[in-house]
Amino acid sequence: KTPYQRLPEWLKTKVPVGANFARIKSDLRGLNLHTVCEEARCPNIGDCWGGGEHKTATATIMLMGDECTRGCRFCSVKTNKTPKPLDPNEPENVAHAISKWGLDYVVLTSVDRDDLSDGGSEHFANTVRLLKKKAPHILIECLTGDFQGNLDCVAKVATSGLDVYAHNIETVENLTSHVRDRRATFRQSLSVLEHAKKIKPSLITKTSIMLGVGETDDEVLDAMKELRKINVDCITLGQYMRPTKRHMKVHEYIAPEKFDYWAKIGNDLGFLYTASGPLVRSSYKAGEFYIGKILK
Ligand code: SF4
Ligand code: SF4
Repeated sequence: KTPYQRLPEWLKTKVPVGANFARIKSDLRGLNLHTVCEEARCPNIGDCWGGGEHKTATATIMLMGDECTRGCRFCSVKTNKTPKPLDPNEPENVAHAISKWGLDYVVLTSVDRDDLSDGGSEHFANTVRLLKKKAPHILIECLTGDFQGNLDCVAKVATSGLDVYAHNIETVENLTSHVRDRRATFRQSLSVLEHAKKIKPSLITKTSIMLGVGETDDEVLDAMKELRKINVDCITLGQYMRPTKRHMKVHEYIAPEKFDYWAKIGNDLGFLYTASGPLVRSSYKAGEFYIGKILK
């Protein structure tokens, strides 16, 4: 008997191979860098890192270590109230490594660092500035936490030179306290997205929702409408997959047709881009889309 719920066919993916994949992996080890792709056991890693069947390669690099001060019930990142101090060389190391990987699009994200007075926002902003200097052609998305609602921190990242500002609401309002760490709220997350857009209107703002955790259709629709009200440009919807038995259970595997339905709703509501599918993750195929349709 398997300890996990059995996966439907549409959620099974191939084991990654390829030269670019191997190179990125070995550089990451050498620099003690972490990726969400690996930490979150993302099923799309072969496709993203290798460029796969698509033309552009994307990776999601996790800054500020691999220990988070928060503990969301869906997330496989380790929790520690007092993580290691920041590595002051990390912005330079990350910028140097990424500029050599042949990526077209990179997502910089981080664990939440509630232990730092600025939540690590300056560290984020520095990394963006250094990477843009070394490789101006790479499009940069920052996927940040909520900085406990500190809008000065949001502004610092939003004005650092990045192209896309992402912050994930993760779930509908009603399930937020069940799914995310108790310090996160739906309204606080909306305020992050709203402020990033306000402070730099040319930025693309983006968020993500996991489905299959017990939300109702009306709740999803309400969340999408709220996001449009504050001019969030892009939304991704994907299936929640339980990383281990210690994490919250999958309430339901949503059928691919239902994801298509949400894609249509997203388009009808006026999002610039809605990515919706069982395997869609916050950054999946991000490069292809943004480079192709929005930023050029
Ligand atoms: Fe990494 Fe995002 Fe691609 Fe998953 S979808 S492999 S997290 S870049
Ligand atoms: Fe995971 Fe939550 Fe920490 Fe983000 S804030 S890394 S989702 S535990």
